[in-house]
Amino acid sequence: MIWYTIWMSLLCVMMSALVISAGGYLIRREAIRELTEEANDVADSVRYRDGRLFTDDLDWYDDGIFLQIFDQEGNLLFGRDNPDFPPPVFEIGRARPAGRWYVAEEDTGDGIVVRALMRRYDTGSYLLQIGVLLLLPLILALAALGGYFITQRSFRPVDKVIRTANEIAGSDDLSKRIGLKGREDEIHSMAEAFDRVLERLEASFEKERQFTSDASHELRTPLSVIKAECEYALSHSDDSGKMKEALIQIEKQEERMSRLVSELLSLARSDKGSLRVDISEFDLNELIEAVLSSMEERADKAKVSLSFGCSKGLMIEADSSMIARILINLVSNAIQYSREGGFVLVRAYKEKGSTVISVEDNGIGISAEDLPRIWDRFYQADSSRSSSSSGAGLGLPIVKALAKAHKGEVSAESKLGEGSIFTVRLPIG
Ligand code: ADP
Repeated sequence: MIWYTIWMSLLCVMMSALVISAGGYLIRREAIRELTEEANDVADSVRYRDGRLFTDDLDWYDDGIFLQIFDQEGNLLFGRDNPDFPPPVFEIGRARPAGRWYVAEEDTGDGIVVRALMRRYDTGSYLLQIGVLLLLPLILALAALGGYFITQRSFRPVDKVIRTANEIAGSDDLSKRIGLKGREDEIHSMAEAFDRVLERLEASFEKERQFTSDASHELRTPLSVIKAECEYALSHSDDSGKMKEALIQIEKQEERMSRLVSELLSLARSDKGSLRVDISEFDLNELIEAVLSSMEERADKAKVSLSFGCSKGLMIEADSSMIARILINLVSNAIQYSREGGFVLVRAYKEKGSTVISVEDNGIGISAEDLPRIWDRFYQADSSRSSSSSGAGLGLPIVKALAKAHKGEVSAESKLGEGSIFTVRLPIG
């Protein structure tokens, strides 16, 4: 807009200069032509004989033209003297500007000189002054105002494109469209192309989601058959044989796969927005205590102390099984990635319209590069250290999805070698 205003102003200055100089030239040419004609006419009509001047009906001033008649000594015979007039220095037949006047002189042939004068308006500088003082600021203001409205109008669709792109980036909602219609310019074509890309993206994401959901569903049946067969075989195998060991291994792996499949299914439902949230009011303290006592054995094995600090009577309205899942995932990570003799501290409190649950440990911590990626599906910060775990990098994405189902937020702070703190904020109400 600034460039447009500067450009418009330059154009205006150039146009004004052109008009003023062309106008000035035409006015001067016209004035000189008129004066020459007048001086000629008068010179033809006057006679000077024996010191006497014979004229027809002659006015000393008519229609902006002053007339003077001089004898050869420069004495004024007709007309009025004016100290403002240029001095009587005659240049016969050469009409010209002289000071603030245009002057034309003609010889009558009787030894006298007719002089015609016209006031000279210096149109150039006069108009230029008005232009500079009044018109230019006005033109500038108009150009800026016009530019502002034009750019506003033409950038409105671009604004809409940016807003939609930001909304999609902020919410992962690919069903949004820019939906610009009504015109056939480049911006509208771009918006339509953008919408078409979104359509295709949404369709392929949808396909991928559907695949994960279908595959997980399909895997559940064979897995439950494997489980049932394992149980049956185990109950019929002798106690010592290698066969029993193999069956136990199969059963363990089946459990691991079942967990993975159910996590994938939960994530697929969360993507579809079809996670069922059963809201009820319950005491968060009680839930945390129950979860921690169920994990006591694991913590003891890992030589980690579990502790819990929270304000009394923390009633919340949420899906208790989902909140339990969030706690299990965070606490089991904290135990898994802690060190011998370390601690895991769970806190729960209300703050600024949210119920906050935090799980802190003084374990191995997460590097700054890994930290933003731990919420990605199947991401494991260090596969070598995670290989012993039964997880597959879906624990934290599930925590995030479950918090999102409650319109909540998750975050993590960590320092490699010092420990981590995971925080879940759930809106109250
Ligand atoms: P996993 O099944 O590997 O535990 P998660 O999604 O739960 O998957 O965690 C992703 C990665 O984040 C883990 O592999 C681990 O590297 C890192 N991580 C999670 N919690 C902690 C923690 N409390 N301390 C250190 N690293 C952690």
